[in-house]
Amino acid sequence: MSDENQELVRSLWTADILRDAIRTRNAVLKENVEGKVDCWRKFRLIENTDGEPIFGWAACADCYCCIVYKCKAGNGTVKLYGTKNMTDHMKTCVSASGRQSSIDVFVKRVPGKKFTNTERAAVKNAEIHLIVEAGLPFAVVENSGLRSFAQQMILIGSKYGNINVDDVLYGPKTVRDVVVDKMKECQDEIKRQVATSSKFHSVSFCSDMTTDDVNKNSYSDFTVFWVNNWQLKHALYKCEYFPEKHTAHNIQKFIDINLNELGLSLVDTPCTTDKGSNIVAATAAKTHIDVLVID
Ligand SMILES: [Zn+2]
Repeated sequence: MSDENQELVRSLWTADILRDAIRTRNAVLKENVEGKVDCWRKFRLIENTDGEPIFGWAACADCYCCIVYKCKAGNGTVKLYGTKNMTDHMKTCVSASGRQSSIDVFVKRVPGKKFTNTERAAVKNAEIHLIVEAGLPFAVVENSGLRSFAQQMILIGSKYGNINVDDVLYGPKTVRDVVVDKMKECQDEIKRQVATSSKFHSVSFCSDMTTDDVNKNSYSDFTVFWVNNWQLKHALYKCEYFPEKHTAHNIQKFIDINLNELGLSLVDTPCTTDKGSNIVAATAAKTHIDVLVID
């Protein structure tokens, strides 16, 4: 390639286009073995995919920031810009300082970091604050849900930096709506599996009432059992607030609604209950009952 063409090609690149080319592997980084200055430990020369050098450009190996360090003058002489821009970049490189991550960091977990004493103390205080403020048991810090939540926040932070929590978290109403959507998804999946099993009359259910210790609210639950691929499966199909009186009539209504929803026979689906007289009465009229005695 002639010098003129080289100059033409060089001028086609911009720092942004070149960085994208590196990210998409349309340009590759190559160590500058002749580079004596310190910044060449972090910066790389750039080649196109045919192995031809992209003249005058260097790229940060961490964040792919591209900098021109030399160019060709009109008369063909090479003009060096020096390495000051690269040295300056080393001090401010966002990947190295952890303020923003290169694209590789998004997929790979960064190995363990050594935190300062102040940072450790801040994390401990935040954990204590969570427990006291929300009235949670100490064991919550080992809860897999909390830990995956915290990891999700770190992942978002590693991509977008120190952003405000208000820009990330959803409010209680949205979370409630999503929970309801998820619940419907699960119920549909249970319905689908139960439907296959019910053709062979291999579905049974159990139902019970619980009252929470603090508010004394009652909840009725409905668990269904079915056979899939010769394996016994079970799932809690529904657990809902039950403000009505716990009469046999009301419980029977709850059970009939669930049997209907699952497309199961109201009279021919076996049921397992405890000895609760209301539940026994609710199911005795129609269904086969296996009484499970729990003392
Ligand atoms: Zn960099």
